[in-house]
Amino acid sequence: MSYEGHEEYLCAVGHRTQVDCNEDRPKACRCGEALVWRHSVDETNGFYVEDASTFAAGTRLIGFDDVWHVDHYGNKYATKIDRFEPAESINSETGQSLGNVWINIQAEKEALAKEIAENDANRRWGVMATPQNGSPWQILTEYCLDTTYFTYSLGSHKEKPVGFTSREDAVGAMNRVMEAGMPPNTRFEVFCFDQRDNP
Ligand SMILES: [Zn+2]
Repeated sequence: MSYEGHEEYLCAVGHRTQVDCNEDRPKACRCGEALVWRHSVDETNGFYVEDASTFAAGTRLIGFDDVWHVDHYGNKYATKIDRFEPAESINSETGQSLGNVWINIQAEKEALAKEIAENDANRRWGVMATPQNGSPWQILTEYCLDTTYFTYSLGSHKEKPVGFTSREDAVGAMNRVMEAGMPPNTRFEVFCFDQRDNP
């Protein structure tokens, strides 16, 4: 069965909004304030008292706003919009706390950006050589280039590849190795890897 559920939000002043999981996240609250907290309610397999991800996250009422209207006699009347803050979710059968399951949207965004930056910082480019005669493929395991000196080695794919910090650098090295007179029927290409996987 495919995922069913909805996303609930609290804005900066505590208004509650919810949208179906297939809808886009609202840009802001109806009042114009930013959405600060979110919680996904998973309705795929129904509701379980002990699983806080299957029902609305806990809230504490902190106040309300009056929204004013005028009826067709010209009488003013107000409707009440409650304001909440995040609170612990509670198992409705045992009264036991299930913890505060609200996620801070800004903190989540920052954590994601940090993770992407870390992944980028750890990305390296290597050079791979595949002989077309059926011999196993090899990688560039050593590369040294300065104004007077150029040397390189190719080794087994189980060895540690030379990790260039950009694709361009890897392509430059690949071209230089090819010019240095590799067997003609060898296919060269660059590949991307995460240096954390090659300690
Ligand atoms: Zn609001």
